[in-house]
Amino acid sequence: MIRTRFAPSPTGLLHVGNARVSVLNWLITRHAGGAVVLRIEDTDNERNVDSSENAIFADLDWLGITPDEGPVQGGDAGPYRQSERLDSYATAAVQLLAHDFAYPCFCSKDELEAERAAILAAGGQPHYSGRCRGLTDDERTAFTAQGRTPAIRFAVSPDRVIVVDDAVYGSVRVNSSELGDFIIVRGDGLPTYNFAVVCDDMAMRITHVVRGVGHLSNTHRQVLIFEALGGVLPVFAHIPTVLGEDRQKLSKRNGAQSIAEYRENGYHPDALVNYLSLLSWSSPTGEEFLSREQLIAEISLDRIGAADVMFDPAKLRWLSGKHIEAMDLAALTPAVRPFLNARYTLLPDETLDVAVAAVRSHLVTFADINDALAPIFVEPAAPTSLTQGQRTVCSVAAELLETAQWTDAGLAAAIKDIGARAGAKGRALYEPLRLAVTGELHGPPFVPLLLVRGRDDVLRRIHATLESDGH
Ligand code: GLU
Repeated sequence: MIRTRFAPSPTGLLHVGNARVSVLNWLITRHAGGAVVLRIEDTDNERNVDSSENAIFADLDWLGITPDEGPVQGGDAGPYRQSERLDSYATAAVQLLAHDFAYPCFCSKDELEAERAAILAAGGQPHYSGRCRGLTDDERTAFTAQGRTPAIRFAVSPDRVIVVDDAVYGSVRVNSSELGDFIIVRGDGLPTYNFAVVCDDMAMRITHVVRGVGHLSNTHRQVLIFEALGGVLPVFAHIPTVLGEDRQKLSKRNGAQSIAEYRENGYHPDALVNYLSLLSWSSPTGEEFLSREQLIAEISLDRIGAADVMFDPAKLRWLSGKHIEAMDLAALTPAVRPFLNARYTLLPDETLDVAVAAVRSHLVTFADINDALAPIFVEPAAPTSLTQGQRTVCSVAAELLETAQWTDAGLAAAIKDIGARAGAKGRALYEPLRLAVTGELHGPPFVPLLLVRGRDDVLRRIHATLESDGH
């Protein structure tokens, strides 16, 4: 069974970039019938933002990409917050130290900076010299006696080619000498990202690591740690970066919002899941408007491309409209209700149903409902002047609508009768009626419009038109 993970750091809101990584993990896992683990990477206290963990849970919930295991769901591979797993990192560090895969490094910040500056001045590539690697036990004891608390460094064997076989980027080779002996546990006892991630991926039995390509350069170090801890390498699949329309790093400025903002602005969550999956992947059918079920059925790592991709807000909007269009009315009306402004909040459900059905094709987001309803409730700005024929239609309407059945069929029949009695059809029939009720020649389907406005309001408008005219 495949096991994937989504490993956000609680440093702020869920954004398009990290939401996309979680969407892909979720789709790939659902496709294969495995389990998605949510792991909170919260060991960097300085960057942690209170409440962002809950915000991430809420955003994932709204997107409908709920994990199978995590801080809320529980599971047998927990705890699911790195801050609660510190003991396991300490145990793994002791194991690496015992087998000389790692060593304590007593260098101070100042000493490291001086070393770095010297290498740079000599035109070299700065990395740690390995100065503390060969310390004797006595030297270590002496440093400890000085009150120095060591970091722990991984002892990298020099001049070895490390290959990461990436499912998207292919074989990526790095010479180990370029890495230098890197820190796995800092002086304050906290694990570094590379170390904690490998300990966790092993303990949580992760089979597929799907994450942003920004981490590909970390992966070679992680491979070394996997080997030293006796772990089995997962499949690595790095996903290209999403750029803004100006080809710069994606941000608010060049078109992206946080997931919470898309929710507040009334986007359909399925449209986000659909759009985010399309950023580096395409369906074998070429179709772009895809339901969650279709995405799960069709997703595969081998159709994920390695090219950087550009975020296209217009396409996301198009997909939101398509997903709204595909909704059942029974789901659509409750979905738009929270977005109604004060003018419409009191509409009863039955009336709102009719109104939403009449205007739904105009909705790109749920929040568009107010603009879409406006033409139904519009009031003429100025009295309408009517021709003789139009006046006749309105007079007959004033009479027949008094007793018409206020239903779809009843109103359709009444309009037909009005036409027959007034000797008008087509535009000659509809235009005066529309003008009287709304002051506009065009607008939403007319019978639903009458149903929504109600008999009293429609008759009030027709009488007002007849009174203001006709002198
Ligand atoms: N916490 C890391 C991040 O947010 C996760 C990296 C990983 O998936 O290994 O970038």
